[in-house]
Amino acid sequence: MPRTPAPDPHTPHGPLPEGGSVRPITRWGADVMHRPARPVVEFDEDLRALAADMVATMYAADGVGLAACQVGVDLALFVFDCPDEDGRRHIGVVANPRVSLPEGRDRRLDDDDEGCLSYPGAFVPCARPDFAIVEGEGLDGEPVRYSGDGLLARCLQHETDHTLGTVFGDRLNKRSRKRLEKQWQDATDSYPQGWPLEGEQPTVSDRQ
Ligand code: ZN
Repeated sequence: MPRTPAPDPHTPHGPLPEGGSVRPITRWGADVMHRPARPVVEFDEDLRALAADMVATMYAADGVGLAACQVGVDLALFVFDCPDEDGRRHIGVVANPRVSLPEGRDRRLDDDDEGCLSYPGAFVPCARPDFAIVEGEGLDGEPVRYSGDGLLARCLQHETDHTLGTVFGDRLNKRSRKRLEKQWQDATDSYPQGWPLEGEQPTVSDRQ
């Protein structure tokens, strides 16, 4: 899994920041994951360094998206490197994300499996609209907008949820939530505290 992706011609705002350090991933249950994050107001070198750490951590965990709360930071920010329905790769950084979803006749639900790097080793179906648009700011405070279908639509919604203090377990019914907990317990040995700094690497590539 490459840590520094080549620039993507489809991405209007350049490649992800490089040179960050891998940080341990914060788990569900930690306070920072279950309350709305503070908005980003300063677009400075500290923010860029945080985003670089998030990118390094996302790749180390073989993820397709990661929010700041997942490295314990209370800021509305996420990074992603995720394929859409056609396998086309999209990468970006979004501060203060706002998601728009199709409504009425255009709204179709996709109930593919979903997982979370902060609840590693567990996947269950989670119904979400199959297309999403996210708008926010890039690392220099410039407006950014990303949209897409497939896993990308799921990822953009999942990561925006994180900035609002919502984890996808909150969106599941009791039965699915139980299945998820069981899988997570069975996978505990593969994801020791401190992961992905140490321990076994996961083998599935659609974690968010
Ligand atoms: Zn997540």
